[in-house]
Amino acid sequence: MTRAVVSLNAGSSSIKFALFTLGPDGPEHAAAGKLEGIGIAPHLVARGADGTVLIDQDWDNGARLTHEALLRELFGWASQHLPEHEIVAIGHRVVHGGMSFARPLLVDDALLEALDLLCPLAPLHQPHNLAAIRAIRTLAPALPQVACFDTAFHHDRTDVAMRFALPRALHDKGIRRYGFHGLSYDYIARTLRETDPELARGRVIVAHLGNGASLCAMHDGKSVDTTMGFTALDGLMMGTRCGDIDPGVLLHLQMQEGMSAANVETLLYKQSGLLGVSGVSSDMRALHQSPDPHAAEAIDLFAWRAAREAGALISSLGGIDGIIFTAGIGENDPIIRASICERLAWTGLIIDGESNARNAPIISRSDSRIIARVIPTDEERMIAVLSLGVVRPAAGVSQ
Ligand code: ADP
Repeated sequence: MTRAVVSLNAGSSSIKFALFTLGPDGPEHAAAGKLEGIGIAPHLVARGADGTVLIDQDWDNGARLTHEALLRELFGWASQHLPEHEIVAIGHRVVHGGMSFARPLLVDDALLEALDLLCPLAPLHQPHNLAAIRAIRTLAPALPQVACFDTAFHHDRTDVAMRFALPRALHDKGIRRYGFHGLSYDYIARTLRETDPELARGRVIVAHLGNGASLCAMHDGKSVDTTMGFTALDGLMMGTRCGDIDPGVLLHLQMQEGMSAANVETLLYKQSGLLGVSGVSSDMRALHQSPDPHAAEAIDLFAWRAAREAGALISSLGGIDGIIFTAGIGENDPIIRASICERLAWTGLIIDGESNARNAPIISRSDSRIIARVIPTDEERMIAVLSLGVVRPAAGVSQ
């Protein structure tokens, strides 16, 4: 039997998962997959480490299958087709750890109850994260499960970086800037320490640019400031989220335009960002291919906003030594990277067109004052690493 750990990232309509065996140098990627279209037309695909398709399945009665039912199907498939793996833990991405949870934790009844109370802070994500944990508790009650929080990486920032200019009582109640994408930032911070230890000790902005997008200002690998705040709506323009917005707009929409809170929520989370501005798509690749001038406008606004927020974070850091691009757009889109970097030329950043075009690990020129890098993120691996850190001592797992 090969010992293995599973990472799960359960969202509203999809569940991403990955299986890592326990190698001498840490988790080794063995398989990964995605269950998407939950509630509409679920589709499961999983691939082995070499890219071989292990399963590719649709369900006839798909629309009726709940998250729990699909997790049961997934479990059934895994125990039939991966019988040589002994799962020592399942690690979960849990979006919100609130004010208290700053480290990954073994799940028990008390933790689940405490995490339930945080659902109103992340209503679109947290309930699904917790539902997956509960479903697995029913399917495999003895299996250790670990909650890995997206907010944890930002937990130790200064009070100033976390405070809104609101009455103190609201801050004390938990209305503060938490920050998200922490699993991705933790992974990048650790990877940078290995690939470029000198830069890792310096002042770095990490640009996590995917469907969800944020920036993190790090000094010596620790979060100093970040663009997301109380929710994952704040900061950059995203695929369907608006990012930073004058709160007066929200008052206006409700008080003058008569929109309900639920409609405003849908507008801000699902109809804004690249989709709202372009009217074409939330997907950056589709926007690049579109001849519609509104698509070009959306692309331009995305880069302008990212550079503007980077400017604010450079101030929080008191300068900048490097910028790292990651996630779908950050890793693959030379046009967006160039557009952001050119707007940051005032920092002394000079991008190298040829290395940028091929998504090279270093995309700045040798005479650039600051270094620009591309580092692919791996949140699933981070969940596996963090989960093993929790269960190893608890279960006496030596490797
Ligand atoms: P999520 O936040 O859902 O994990 P991803 O990190 O997968 O998102 O990023 C999705 C975004 O990355 C989409 O806008 C997609 O168009 C973009 N993207 C992925 N590959 C490329 C590419 N080769 N060129 C440009 N954009 C890309």
